Amino acid sequence: MSSGINSQHTDAPWKPRGLGHSVTWRCGGCHQNRTSTAGSKGAGVKKRCSTCVAAAEAKKAGMG
Ligand SMILES: [Zn+2]
Repeated sequence: MSSGINSQHTDAPWKPRGLGHSVTWRCGGCHQNRTSTAGSKGAGVKKRCSTCVAAAEAKKAGMG
């Protein structure tokens, strides 16, 4: 191997589409496809959307 700087490609091999990353996941609580993980909790099958998280929090607060 000869010492030398290999051609470094600065351009990304992939091109982002749209604004940010739009990842779709299914909430394990309401089983609805969500595109935003804001306010979500958990992971995998226990992942809950912000709506379910709020509902769980309200339920928890109610049961004290
Ligand atoms: Zn949900």
